[in-house]
Amino acid sequence: MTRQLVVFDFDWSMADQDTDRWIFEVLAPEIRRQMEDLESKVQWTDLVAKSLHEAHEKGIKREQIEHALKIIPYHPAMVRAVTRLKAAGNTTFFCLSNANSVFISTILKEKGLENLFDEIITNPAEWEDSGLLKLHRRVDPNGPQHTCKVGCSPNMCKGEELTAFLGRHPEYDRVVYIGDGSNDFCPVIRLRSQDMNLCRTFGGLHKRIAREGESAGLKCQVKYWTGAWEVEEIFNTL
Ligand SMILES: [Zn+2]
Repeated sequence: MTRQLVVFDFDWSMADQDTDRWIFEVLAPEIRRQMEDLESKVQWTDLVAKSLHEAHEKGIKREQIEHALKIIPYHPAMVRAVTRLKAAGNTTFFCLSNANSVFISTILKEKGLENLFDEIITNPAEWEDSGLLKLHRRVDPNGPQHTCKVGCSPNMCKGEELTAFLGRHPEYDRVVYIGDGSNDFCPVIRLRSQDMNLCRTFGGLHKRIAREGESAGLKCQVKYWTGAWEVEEIFNTL
């Protein structure tokens, strides 16, 4: 039996939205606008942390943020796809995301998927008693930085994280990587010819594969998808 590792990016891959932007679109559009204005000047994780501070100062409560997370667009076909594949028994699920631990765990619990992933690598976050959601970069800005040259954001190199995971767990015959963003390019070019990338058709990953895939030595099979129902179709063949 083939032993598979399925690696999921979270925003626009597992969830049908971007968690960082969504909660402010629901609760504080003026902060959402400010994020748009500051995106080119402030590192993204730091910008989300700052925005969470500002939301807290405006009186936005933990319960409101949790509610916004629970109603995030999430395709029922994605729930079916991962549930069926998990039940088949030969697949391990690993989440590699630039969102944060609280957003991801809150959403997965709402969907009944809290036991889906064996491991979730993302930015750490925790609720303070005051109701502030405190968020940090995965790679501490005051410590040693990652050495990625492919263009990953300073908070995390997804390629290095995938390589480290496969170093801890070398037993997989095939890796299937689901992602949409430009920061998914670094792990995808590390995949082998027997591996597969399910690339969402809108987003930076598609563009980077078209522009840089060949020169970066992309080896894996790439399948494109737009809606989660197509991921379900592909999962049904794995
Ligand atoms: Zn990288």
